[in-house]
Amino acid sequence: MRLSRYFMPILKENPKEAEIVSHRLMLRTGMIRQQSQGIYSWLPLGKRVLDKVNAIIREEQNRAGAIELLMPTLQSAELWQESGRYDAYGKEMLRIKDRQDRPMLYGPTNEEMVTDIFRSYVKSYKNLPLNLYHIQLKFRDEIRPRFGTMRSREFLMKDAYSFDLTKEGAVHSYNKMFAAYLRTFNRLGLRAIPMRADTGPIGGNHSHEFIILADTGESEVFCHKSFLDRSIPGEDTDFDDVAGLQAIFEDWTKDYAATSEMHDEAVYDAMPEGERISARGIEVGHIFYFGTKYSEPMGAKVQGPDGKEHLVHMGSYGIGPTRLVPAIIEASHDENGIIWPESVAPFDVVVINMKAGDEACDAASETLYAALAKAGKDVLLDDTDDRAGTKFATADLIGVPVQVIVGPRGVANGEVELKNRKTGERETMTIEAAINRLA
Ligand code: ATP
Ligand code: MG
Ligand code: MG
Ligand code: MG
Repeated sequence: MRLSRYFMPILKENPKEAEIVSHRLMLRTGMIRQQSQGIYSWLPLGKRVLDKVNAIIREEQNRAGAIELLMPTLQSAELWQESGRYDAYGKEMLRIKDRQDRPMLYGPTNEEMVTDIFRSYVKSYKNLPLNLYHIQLKFRDEIRPRFGTMRSREFLMKDAYSFDLTKEGAVHSYNKMFAAYLRTFNRLGLRAIPMRADTGPIGGNHSHEFIILADTGESEVFCHKSFLDRSIPGEDTDFDDVAGLQAIFEDWTKDYAATSEMHDEAVYDAMPEGERISARGIEVGHIFYFGTKYSEPMGAKVQGPDGKEHLVHMGSYGIGPTRLVPAIIEASHDENGIIWPESVAPFDVVVINMKAGDEACDAASETLYAALAKAGKDVLLDDTDDRAGTKFATADLIGVPVQVIVGPRGVANGEVELKNRKTGERETMTIEAAINRLA
């Protein structure tokens, strides 16, 4: 991508309305634009990051055996009347009428709809287990939308729904998502801690919120420090290995970790002081086993091996991609701007032509740009006629992991400078060496 032809509306001033650093940086770099309260456009730079986040989520969902579909955002109220949640959901639900005066709603979540799909087609235990997911916009009319896309009214959610014949089967499905979430957040450069969450009337210990520690988080959290360096399930994790996944679950839940709603002060206080963490956190994911809560009122049954009909045991599993993007920025930035983890950076490399219009600088920049693009890298070429200082500031601000600086003095010797955005380390090398290093 040539910056001269791109659409990346950088703001010179810090936007006043932004209270936290991620919101400020997302507005300054032109990643997002608020369209009305809590409703955002994702501009091209933001969209690139969001797509990379979604791709990682998708890969890990697929690896764990979940199957992607796409359900509509607008739902008929009827389904929600069947489950009994239409009235219970309250003001967070945006209710709409169509031209025939039929009550509709913009879905805040999809348990009812996916249960309807399930019951329409699946009749035998032989088709289980099943886990269906999508990455889709949701709407919740939050009382206090704030912090940009961290708490917005319209937001993206990856929501998965599992169906099993028995509770034991459902626990295995839960453990699959548990391990998939650990892998997902790790690949996004985040350390997410699974914390016991309220299961309400269902009970049991099968609900966890995945929390990123951050001073700007809205939740108050307490945990053992062991979570800061616990090992993540590998790429070779066997998701069909019931005992293996249960062992991962147990390893990750044996130490204390709870949000304020579930906090047990006595247990926490009993831990040695040096091993305790009391902090603030951001909820980036939430997994839940809820048994027959929806299958019962909605009649989602399958025939079991015994020839009888059984209500299916269900779970749901959410991740918020549009919240993850600011969460990553909260975890990774400095005074000059964003520092993207390589896995989600909008570009892998930015080639900074310090003197656009200079024949030698242009030629070297074009050579680098073409070679890196050919090698499959996402390359941004700053070919604008801004001052060099402005270009350096922009590159730091948007947080591309590697900068290749092409200046007249270096190019005269056939050399360019590589700068690592995270460490600030600089290295001079030939153009060819730079291409070999980065391609
Ligand atoms: P919160 O406690 O922050 O209101 P929630 O518990 O209501 O979130 P869930 O119903 O568990 O959210 O939804 C799954 C995931 O969707 C959350 O873990 C979060 O990542 C994301 N999410 C929920 N609400 C929002 C929102 N208003 N804006 C952005 N992401 C959201
Ligand atoms: Mg909420
Ligand atoms: Mg919550
Ligand atoms: Mg939640």
